[in-house]
Amino acid sequence: MEGKKTTMAKRRRLQIGSAGISLKLILLGDGGVGKTTLVKSWMDQTLRSDYLMTVGVDISVKEFILEDGNRVKLTVSDIAGQERFAQFRSIFFGGANLAFLVFDVTRRESLDNLETEWLPQLLPTLSDPKFSLGLIANKVDLSAQRQIQRSEVQLAYKRLKKRFPMIRWIGYLETSALTKHNVQLAFHKISTEYFSSSKEDLGDMSAPRIKADRIGPKPNP
Ligand code: GDP
Ligand code: MG
Repeated sequence: MEGKKTTMAKRRRLQIGSAGISLKLILLGDGGVGKTTLVKSWMDQTLRSDYLMTVGVDISVKEFILEDGNRVKLTVSDIAGQERFAQFRSIFFGGANLAFLVFDVTRRESLDNLETEWLPQLLPTLSDPKFSLGLIANKVDLSAQRQIQRSEVQLAYKRLKKRFPMIRWIGYLETSALTKHNVQLAFHKISTEYFSSSKEDLGDMSAPRIKADRIGPKPNP
């Protein structure tokens, strides 16, 4: 009996040691905004990848090491074509630590729906007090068809943050899942920031972080 206990304890230690910290990230947003393409772009650039197909949900797992040496196992759940079924969504949201709210900059409606549908449905399902999310403005390569300009992305982010202050907002980022622009950065930043104790959000996630004490006095006009 004693021996069995020791083995189990050892095994548990090993699991924690080899898998690192496990986080579940979900991708929210209307069908066609580029969620699946974002995950595939992100997965392509790794040797240790795994792609599982389940009923209605695609699960991708990737492990990486953060700057502080912590190993993170990120499990990404992609709703895979079931976007329109509200009942299905709440099952899919369960146990999430992180989320990307994804919209398509060429379709204004996809941004509006984050505010009116996706976020209100997500909120009651949350269990992690550290739950954090980022706003992703995808398809920025389609500059000629763009309906939501860069400046408006920032405004939309601020508006969402104000309307849903009970969630921790990490920042916003413009991406192109097709050209892979900012894709690795998005997944990396959101995982890193999850562990940050800073209450302030990053705002534009592609901008370098400026420490407040490094900013000098404003020059006189
Ligand atoms: P989902 O329904 O949100 O998973 O969207 P998909 O990833 O299936 O993408 C829908 C369509 O948009 C596909 O034809 C993709 O090739 C295309 N797409 C996705 N991301 C981008 C992007 O960043 N730029 C462009 N131009 N097309 C994209
Ligand atoms: Mg999809």
